[in-house]
Amino acid sequence: MIGIIGAMQVEVEHIKAVMTDVETETISGIEFCRGKISGKDMVAAKCGIGKVFASVCAEAMILRYNPDVIVNIGVAGTLTNELNTTDIAVAKSVVHHDLDTSPLGDPIGLISGVNIINIECDKKVSSLLEKCVKSLGINCKAGVIASGDQFVCTTERKNFIRDTFNAIACEMEGASIGHVCFINGTRFGVLRAISDGADEKSHMDYDKFVPLAAKNSFEVIKRFIEEF
Ligand code: SAH
Repeated sequence: MIGIIGAMQVEVEHIKAVMTDVETETISGIEFCRGKISGKDMVAAKCGIGKVFASVCAEAMILRYNPDVIVNIGVAGTLTNELNTTDIAVAKSVVHHDLDTSPLGDPIGLISGVNIINIECDKKVSSLLEKCVKSLGINCKAGVIASGDQFVCTTERKNFIRDTFNAIACEMEGASIGHVCFINGTRFGVLRAISDGADEKSHMDYDKFVPLAAKNSFEVIKRFIEEF
C-alpha cells in the first residue's frame, strides 16, 4: 500500500479525485481515504498545516494502514536559484530547521535520542520520484528539505536554513513525517513543488503559484504510483 500525505486540500484533492473504491475513515480529526489508483492500494490524507498535525497523521496512517511507503507531497519555498516557482524539489533527506538545543552544546537540528540531524529518505523512492519529475519535463533538484513551524519569508532566515543545513527548499511538514516514518521503520519520500521565494521579495508569490505547484506535484505522484 502507498500512503500519500499533503498538508492542504489543494495538495490532495487531485489524488482523491482519481481514486476508486474509496472508503473513508476519520482518526484524530483527519480524514483518511483508502482506495485504488492504477490498480494499487492507496491511502491518502490531508494532515493540516505544521509539524504537529503532520506527525499525528503519519503515526495514525502507519498504525492503522501499515503502508509500505509514505510520500509527502505539496508546495514549498525555494532556498536556491536552481529552483523557481512550479519547479520541483525531491528530498534526499529532511531536517527540522527549528529544532535547536545548541545552547547545550548540540549541533543545530539535532534530534536528541536518535542523535541524527538529517533523516534519510528511502533511496529507491527518492530516485523514482526524481525520474518521474524529469519524465514530465519539469525542472527538478534533489537535496535536503527543511521543515519548521514557520512560513519562511525573510532573506535572513532563508539564508540561515540554506547555509546551516545545505537545504534546497523549506516547508512545514516533511521532516515530521520523515521523523515518524524513521522511528517506525517505514520507507518515505518528500516531493515539493515550489510556490514561492521564501523571502521579503517573493514570499507573496505563494498565493499565485500554489494551485499550479500543487497540480505539478500531483502529476508526478500519479506517475510515481503507476511505476512503484
Ligand atoms: N493559513 C494558511 C497557512 C499556509 S502555510 C493555510 O491554511 O492555507 C504554507 C504551507 O505551504 C505549509 O503547508 C508549508 O509546508 C508550505 N510552504 C510553502 N511555502 C513555504 C515557505 N516559504 N515557508 C514555509 N512553508 C511553506
